[in-house]
Amino acid sequence: MSFERKKILVLGAGYAGLSTVTKLQKLLSVQEADITLINKNEYHYESTWLHETAAGSMNWEDGVYPIAKVVDNMKVRFVPAEVTKIDRDNKVVQTNQGEFDFDILVVSLGFESESFGIEGMDEYAETIVSPQSAVKAREEIEKNFINYKTSQDKRDLAILVGGAGFTGVEFLGELVETLPELCKAHGIDYNDVKITCVEAMPTMLPMFSDELTQHAVDFLEKRGVEFMLGTAIVAANDKGFVVKVNDQEQQIEASSVIWTAGVRGSKLMEESFEGVKRGRIVVNNDLTIDGYDNIYAIGDVAAVMNGTGKDARPYPTTAQIAMQLGEHTAKNIKLSLDGDKKEPFVYDDKGTVCSLGSKDGIGVVMGKEIKGKPAAFMKKVIDTRAVFKIGGLALAATKGKFM
Ligand SMILES: Cc1cc2nc3c(=O)[nH]c(=O)nc-3n(C[C@H](O)[C@H](O)[C@H](O)COP(=O)(O)OP(=O)(O)OC[C@H]3O[C@@H](n4cnc5c(N)ncnc54)[C@H](O)[C@@H]3O)c2cc1C
Repeated sequence: MSFERKKILVLGAGYAGLSTVTKLQKLLSVQEADITLINKNEYHYESTWLHETAAGSMNWEDGVYPIAKVVDNMKVRFVPAEVTKIDRDNKVVQTNQGEFDFDILVVSLGFESESFGIEGMDEYAETIVSPQSAVKAREEIEKNFINYKTSQDKRDLAILVGGAGFTGVEFLGELVETLPELCKAHGIDYNDVKITCVEAMPTMLPMFSDELTQHAVDFLEKRGVEFMLGTAIVAANDKGFVVKVNDQEQQIEASSVIWTAGVRGSKLMEESFEGVKRGRIVVNNDLTIDGYDNIYAIGDVAAVMNGTGKDARPYPTTAQIAMQLGEHTAKNIKLSLDGDKKEPFVYDDKGTVCSLGSKDGIGVVMGKEIKGKPAAFMKKVIDTRAVFKIGGLALAATKGKFM
């Protein structure tokens, strides 16, 4: 048993970081630990709701809440600051608000956009990775629709979505729900709107059965979305995407271009640790990094393996696993402070639901496939549960989705 008051530093207040801190403040007394949480913004944003902001069905303010609302300021010091460097050996983290030293570090800096080196993608496409980027994507679509009234250029009504993965499909689902309203507001015929989704893989949503995927495709196609599967995007430019079809390059033109196909862990990971791939570091089964039993990496910056040996694969990075990792990290920190052995992390996969706007969806919950209204309902339950798990009833009452 240690009687020394340990300095615990948590970087990032996303699902992983906030789950760690809210659990730690329950498990540890002020005498045991001095806990500091550092995050870029004063607020937490629900990353899993960002596609709603990007499509215009949710104001960005509705998907965020002040971090101060969920941390116990008697036990946790919250510092709004941007982390610029992690010095693991000297146990110091640098930020734009000064240096912070630590005995125990939890790195949960989350994800950023990844363009896989596709020429022009960072410059010409909007992304859905933060409230700011989601607002920008929405503003871009609106600006082009408004512009159409004077330009009469059909490209202003064309929207290109790069990627038919989970985020791409959820975004398209919201878009086909909100665009008719936008068209009405600006006197535009919805039939003149062209939404094209380009995906490099020949299939989409590999986490779901063919039947569920077909439900999503039918839903979106019926509302005007055109899919170009098995089509690689080779560049983005001021006209749209350049794609490769049958070895021939083609320009697809659209004024609104949204890239949803790639995320990676924080770039700070490569700068701070060895063996990091696309911002993710493989962690031990107690969630610490190799050689540092005082440093945990969790959430989208971690590759948590689903077993051992050469067949082991990292679990997909999701909010669901990020929250479980946060809670487990808090438990392991408590165990280590008590002088006990840390426990291995065991993932409890409760399923996945992909929304198609507010009234439809597809999913697998507790091993059972669902689609349509039940899936849309379950998605709202999952979203509300995430808020409740971190902020309790009071937060769920104001931020939960009850309609
Ligand atoms: C549109 C969309 C829909 C999604 N839908 C689902 C879903 O339905 N289900 C699901 O399970 N997952 C979903 N995901 C994935 C999920 O959002 C992520 O896996 C999850 O957010 C990871 O949590 P995290 O805590 O690791 O990181 P994040 O949520 O990214 O949080 C990281 C935090 O660190 C802060 N930060 C970053 N860099 C710095 C810095 N240098 N200094 C200080 N602070 C910093 C950020 O501002 C942020 O607050 C979705 C993602 C997107 C984009």
